[in-house]
Amino acid sequence: MTAATVSLIEGDGIGPEITAATVRALEAAGARLAWERVDAGAGALARHGEPLPAATLESIKRTRLALKAPLATPSGGGYRSVNVALRQHFDLYANVRPARTMAGVPSRFTGVDLVIVRENTEDLYAGIEHYIDPRRTAAESIAIITRFGSERVIVYAFEYARRHGRRKVTLVHKANILKLSNGLFLDTGREVARRYPDIEFDDMIVDATAMKLVIAPERFDVIVTMNLFGDILSDLAAGLIGGLGVAPAANIGDAAGAAGAVGAVDERPCAMFEAVHGTAPDIAGKGIANPTGLMLSAAMLLDHVDQGAAAARLRSGVTAALASAETRTGDLGGRASTAQYTDAVIRAMA
Ligand code: NAD
Repeated sequence: MTAATVSLIEGDGIGPEITAATVRALEAAGARLAWERVDAGAGALARHGEPLPAATLESIKRTRLALKAPLATPSGGGYRSVNVALRQHFDLYANVRPARTMAGVPSRFTGVDLVIVRENTEDLYAGIEHYIDPRRTAAESIAIITRFGSERVIVYAFEYARRHGRRKVTLVHKANILKLSNGLFLDTGREVARRYPDIEFDDMIVDATAMKLVIAPERFDVIVTMNLFGDILSDLAAGLIGGLGVAPAANIGDAAGAAGAVGAVDERPCAMFEAVHGTAPDIAGKGIANPTGLMLSAAMLLDHVDQGAAAARLRSGVTAALASAETRTGDLGGRASTAQYTDAVIRAMA
């Protein structure tokens, strides 16, 4: 099988350290990947005068695949978030966040193994906001829900469930109150569910979901929801498994968004894989960063390009290395450096 070419963004802060560790672990796992190294974020601004150079966009447009370490976003002024810009540019409409408890990662819960699929482009995040009076004492934000946007993300959730051997999709909404917008999302879900008789389907109100997630998280398998609820619930789910530090994520688009041009003939969807945590400037350059989030994101990339055996080897190495304080990094109460942890991941690969 030929290697998949991936645009690799090393990122800022601890980005280069965790990227080097992840690339090394991927090679050891037998992944067949070829890298196109491209720049984004604060490093790109310093080197090229812009945080998201055209060459980076061109590379992703060509490869349709990106593995991305965290990027610094200035708060307040400065340039707008490159992460958001990348998602918008390639219309990466599905944000996929698995949450699974792992031995060695401190958490109040055990047996959590769920995936949240969040719609990434619509809802209150469509950016339609204005003051409704000249004195600017009242503001309005408009949530946009479309059948098109709902259907593609719900279909993605069902396809994901099928591909990963998951038994159930739960659609989360507030259609009892927001009868039109959330009602549309729910109706679309019920319609899509009929096309997947092999996958169980139910729906749940978002407030009840928040409670049930902390009472009985094992009740959930795949959750699909709109942008705002997904934003909140995916961090809640990360909290169930011990925080954002070890959480992976994927942002998935389709061929039309990936093309970025009318009339393009390439049908491959676009996908970007990234750790959920930030650039950790406080520990950058010290060789102690935990690369688990990026490694598990890379495992999702391998699944996406049908290299499931390499993905399983990488995950088995990570699971084993996390289990012992000797081989865990300091943020998880361990004693290992980034390089020592990576060595342990590679040694333990099954
Ligand atoms: P952060 O996640 O960078 O750091 C929070 C704390 O967690 C810090 O103490 C840090 O040392 C620790 N930490 C995070 N990741 C770690 C790892 N892999 N190993 C060990 N410790 C880790 O969050 P922040 O401080 O709020 O943000 C710093 C910068 O990162 C900001 O510029 C922010 O905009 C950016 N950021 C980027 C992304 C992204 O690119 N996806 C996500 C979040 C934040």
